[in-house]
Formats: sequence, C-alpha cells, structure tokens
Amino acid sequence: MTMPRSSLASFPRLKTWLDAGLGFFYPECCQICGCERAGPAEGYVCGRCQSRPDGIRFVRPPFCERCGLPFRGEVTSRFECGNCQESELVFRQARAAIEATALALDLIHKYKYQRALWLEPLLAGLFTSQAAPELRREQWDWIVPVPLHPVRHREREFNQAQRLALPLGAATGIPLNARLLERVEITRTQTMLSRTERAANVRKAFAMRGARQLGGERIVLVDDVLTTGATTNACARALQQAGAGDICVWTLARAVTH
Ligand SMILES: [Zn+2]
Ligand SMILES: [Zn+2]
Repeated sequence: MTMPRSSLASFPRLKTWLDAGLGFFYPECCQICGCERAGPAEGYVCGRCQSRPDGIRFVRPPFCERCGLPFRGEVTSRFECGNCQESELVFRQARAAIEATALALDLIHKYKYQRALWLEPLLAGLFTSQAAPELRREQWDWIVPVPLHPVRHREREFNQAQRLALPLGAATGIPLNARLLERVEITRTQTMLSRTERAANVRKAFAMRGARQLGGERIVLVDDVLTTGATTNACARALQQAGAGDICVWTLARAVTH
C-alpha cells in the first residue's frame, strides 16, 4: 500500500478497513505453533517459539575459524574443523547469523518455497543484526548474492539470497552486485547428497556473467543456508578465477551437523 500515513490517519474508517483487509491476507497468529498471537512486530513468530531450545539460536563462539561450524565444548585457541582441513575451500571464512535449527529451517522453507514473504523482515533482521557489525570492521567492495538459475528464478519469482543481501547492503553501505555471477547449470537438490556429491554437483554451476574479469575486489558472498559450503565455494571459485581478492561468506543460517 503506497498511501502516505498522514492521509490514512485522516480516514480512520479506511484504515480499519485496510487493517482488516491485510489481516485477511497476512496471518494473525504464530506461523510455527499456530496458537499464540504474533503480528508484524514479532515477525509472525511468537516469543515462546522463538525462545524454544530448537528455536532461534545465534551462532556464538567457539566455531571453526574457516567454515563457521559451531563447536560444542571448550576451545581455548583458534581452530579449523576436520572438514575444512580436508576440503579445498576458496573463501577465507564463512559466518552465519543463526543455527539451522528445526524452527529456522521451517521458517526459511516457508519463506522460500511457499512465498511466506511476511517472514522476510524477521529473517532479514536476524541476518543483518549479526552480519552488519562484523562487515563494518573491514573494507568490502561488493555484496554478491548466490544467483538462482533463470528457470528457478521464474518458478520462485524471487531470489532469497538477493532479498537477504539488500537490507545488509543498506545497513553497511556496501554496494550490492547481483549481476556479477550467473548460475549456468540447473543442479539437482543437494538435500540428499553427501559432502563429496554436493561439491561435484555444483562444481560447474556458476560463472562470471559475460566472462567478466576482476581486479582484486573484496567480496561478501551471501546465501540463505550453508550446509557443507559446496555452493558458496563454487561461487567463490568462479570469483577467484576471475581475479577477485578476499572472499568471505555470510549466510542467514548454518547447519550444525552434516
Ligand atoms: Zn508460536
Ligand atoms: Zn570448518
């Protein structure tokens, strides 16, 4: 609704009618439990669900210096997990805002595949609140969202990585560059694949748009979920081969086991 607030205020009956109208389209109750009241202020997820043990959990140290995998227990020095020691990661480091708990994955799934766009302010807010302060400590040239294949983009009508990258760009002042990379292969879903299969599945999936060459730009890659890092690593490889400088990855959620 583009009508300015002041003009709505002078038509109280119209405003009530609009609120009722929005209530018809937008959920009034929590999108997880379906019983507690939760409106836009709560991000449509009630406080009780958000604070469940498998609810919203921010990623906190200790975690792997490279891939950001949270580690349960005491760690007194910097460490790299076993997976990172074995795999050839191109990005310098990956960080995530929240753990990919059952609730987080449920919300992301509803947002991505069922177009529950009213969940976007909550998800983007969680992401930006954690990523922006970290990114402000260094100088970055571009925020680059992981691209969707054009066919997938048409099916889904939006790229969730790009939608999450937008408010992060606004909060940090780092320009968004969504035209640098393209997804040149439709890959099968990664969900049932092993770590090695995932890497092979996406190895050639990304390319520089128009075979563009870079000159050492420092890039922040953005995606919704990081599981093994295969997708973001394939993007990072295409950027690095084109001449990018430092590359870091920020995702909304991070799988805790894989
Ligand atoms: Zn709830
Ligand atoms: Zn690691």
